Amino acid sequence: MAQFRNKVFLPIVGVFLGAFSLMMLLSYAVAYWRVTTEVTSDAEQMINYVEHKLNYAMRNMYKLEQLHYEKCDDKGRAELEQFLLHHFNGGLFFVRSSQEQRYTYCSVVGEIVVAQKDRNFENLILLDEVNRQFPLAVLNYNWREQDSRSLFLGYIGKKNTSAIRITLDDSYAFFDPECSKCRHVEVRLTNDSLVYSMGQPLVDLVSTVRIESDRYPFYVASQINRNRILKMMTNSLVFSLPLSLLVSFLCAYLFKLLQRSERSLKQQLKRAIRQRELVAFYQPIMDAATGRIVGAEALVRWVRPNGEVIPPVRFIDELERTALINPLTIQMLEQLPEDLAPIFAADDEFRCSLNLVPEQVEQEDFCCHIERLATSGFPTHQLALEITERLPLRNLEVANQHLERLKALGVVIELDDAGTGYGGASYLQELNIDILKIDKLFVDTLVLSPNNTPVLDAYIQMAKTLKMEVIAEGVETHEQSLALLARGVHLHQGYYFSKPLPAEEFIQFWLAKQN
Ligand code: C2E
Ligand code: MG
Ligand code: MG
Repeated sequence: MAQFRNKVFLPIVGVFLGAFSLMMLLSYAVAYWRVTTEVTSDAEQMINYVEHKLNYAMRNMYKLEQLHYEKCDDKGRAELEQFLLHHFNGGLFFVRSSQEQRYTYCSVVGEIVVAQKDRNFENLILLDEVNRQFPLAVLNYNWREQDSRSLFLGYIGKKNTSAIRITLDDSYAFFDPECSKCRHVEVRLTNDSLVYSMGQPLVDLVSTVRIESDRYPFYVASQINRNRILKMMTNSLVFSLPLSLLVSFLCAYLFKLLQRSERSLKQQLKRAIRQRELVAFYQPIMDAATGRIVGAEALVRWVRPNGEVIPPVRFIDELERTALINPLTIQMLEQLPEDLAPIFAADDEFRCSLNLVPEQVEQEDFCCHIERLATSGFPTHQLALEITERLPLRNLEVANQHLERLKALGVVIELDDAGTGYGGASYLQELNIDILKIDKLFVDTLVLSPNNTPVLDAYIQMAKTLKMEVIAEGVETHEQSLALLARGVHLHQGYYFSKPLPAEEFIQFWLAKQN
């Protein structure tokens, strides 16, 4: 019982876990995709933001021509303050006249000392190469003993050199402050001077993007690391976890339903074989030229205790898949002489055919079984075996050896469903086949296009050449029967003569035809 429980539950748990892992993987992939778009959007937003600031400053730098500054005294500072408020809305702005020291600038808040290395705007980049008037630089400066560092846009006029600070840290708010350890954005001038950076430098990067401004000499590099993906996943867990659980439960449930229906069909078929509910119906094979019944094909039917008759299409695949086809074939084979006893006794030439799956032809056991039956009096010369072309034969050589042994007992070998499957000409060439059963598909062409039946005609011709007999399957009308006769095919099987019948009815049918 415990073993059964394991067999049933472990796969369901497996499906659940598999589906859950897949869903988690999917949410990781979604987070990964969102992160890679986020990193680009971080860089693009920053580019736009800095460009906007520079655009605004550039537009106003020309107004510096109007500045009447001479000395950094009270008057000069008042001049500066008024100009600044009027034209730039405040901010850090400083200026020095050509006469003043090169590194000391005047600002509204007092004197500003630019660091030694930046005194000539040494790291500057000229925005206006022709007039050499607008330098863009990151300057280190000191004001009231405090060291600072900012981006400045300069203006080098005849009288004065001025610069205004471009502030980037005042109003920029897109950055998620909780994620300073998983996103990093920095702005650098093209000479690599660092202008501004947000978030800590990262390790374990997932994505890096560098975008250059096409208007100004700076670029933005944006990075995101794995923590960001995990953070996004955790943030979306409220939504993705219940969804993943739901999908996983659903998959497990569907699997359980499937398992149950499969298990039950297999179990039911097993029981049906044991209780002999799977029985042969017989469909006559007529010689249409004489009206004689020359044989029959045994076709399995599942006759339920309530009388319902289930056709093979509903269960034959399951029988083949689960190898239950083997005990069934043996059962039908052994039942044949009993079912058809009066006919076998009266007509020594009457032959009944049985369908095999290709595997059975390759099985040594199956061949030996028929040999044993033959020694115990089974009329093997009244038996035909049908090998379908619909399914592949794996080992033609072995199959051929077994067929030869069976033929030695008088068994006739038929190729079923000719033209519809795998074997084609190779089966005809390699296997010693006696009869070709032409599929209904080709017989139907006699109705669909009576004057144009090239495939049917080719098969008939091939059978003639190979000295094989032909049985036409699926003959449904008098016209088809006549057309086949006209083509030299006289063995017919089909609803026109009779549907497959239970053994007793078939014997009645046969008896009726004797008179
Ligand atoms: P098959 O061996 O080609 O059998 C011929 C099928 O065509 C049978 O279907 C038969 O009832 C049907 N048939 C015959 N004449 C006509 C007709 O005039 N019109 C139409 N529409 N159909 C016609 P069935 O009995 O449903 O069997 C289907 C297939 O199942 C068989 O095709 C065979 O491949 C397989 N099968 C049936 N019984 C067995 C069996 O005992 N063992 C094995 N391995 N396969 C079997
Ligand atoms: Mg058949
Ligand atoms: Mg067939």
